[in-house]
Amino acid sequence: MNCNSYQELITGAVDGELTQEEKRFLSLHLEGCAGCRSEYDSEISLKTFLRETMLGHDAPADLLKAVSDDLRGQMAASPGSWVDRWKEAFSAPFARPALALGLTVVLAIIFLTGQPSNDIIDQSLARYEMVTEETFTVQYASSEPAILKTFFEARTDFPVLIPEMKDCKLLGGVLDQNPNGAVAEVLYDHASEHIFLSQISWNSLGKEGSLSIEADVKEQLLKENLFIRTMPNGNSVVLWKKGATLCAAVSTMSSDDLIYCLTSGDPELLSQH
Ligand SMILES: [Zn+2]
Repeated sequence: MNCNSYQELITGAVDGELTQEEKRFLSLHLEGCAGCRSEYDSEISLKTFLRETMLGHDAPADLLKAVSDDLRGQMAASPGSWVDRWKEAFSAPFARPALALGLTVVLAIIFLTGQPSNDIIDQSLARYEMVTEETFTVQYASSEPAILKTFFEARTDFPVLIPEMKDCKLLGGVLDQNPNGAVAEVLYDHASEHIFLSQISWNSLGKEGSLSIEADVKEQLLKENLFIRTMPNGNSVVLWKKGATLCAAVSTMSSDDLIYCLTSGDPELLSQH
């Protein structure tokens, strides 16, 4: 096997997809081949860099700056591999436009997909998208509100609402542990639709590592304790505050129908206390 045939194994190793046997086979070669080892190191650092970039930055504008800064830092930090390759590539006259375009595409992909907003509405809509695409899995499946409540109670510092609603079947919940505040997610089935309920501690709002909320949304919640938004695709978002808990419900149904469902078992669900 020549070095080219190891490329696929290197990519597989970086993506964590190799069997024990393939790993051994590759590491034997890496021990004796400086070229492949530096290729492997480069791919690992690029992957780490991309992952950190995606997780570590909030706003798109900041993200773009961070990506370019990091990329520069990355290139400076790993002499010999990426630096040389980039320099080499950029020195070919007609390679420049193509490379610039390629980099723009990479940045655009990171920009569009890499960093989910930490706004509670955006995040709830994104999670609901996963529900409709059937890529969402409940971490704790239960149709018993009392049992699911116990699951959350032991793990959150705010009361989690598991409302009983007419014609809605409780499917289960997910606890998303952010550094500065947990997000409790509860999913219901309603005929062919779903109701998705995100909840966080009101006091964790906007803290580093927690979810945030737009200023005008917060203002309206403080004034009327209810915020409704209908998205261009018809999905509805309803936010309300219940004691120390901020709740955000998302569904494909209209906001009127959603509020009707939410309050069908407890007319006081949307009231402050
Ligand atoms: Zn090699």
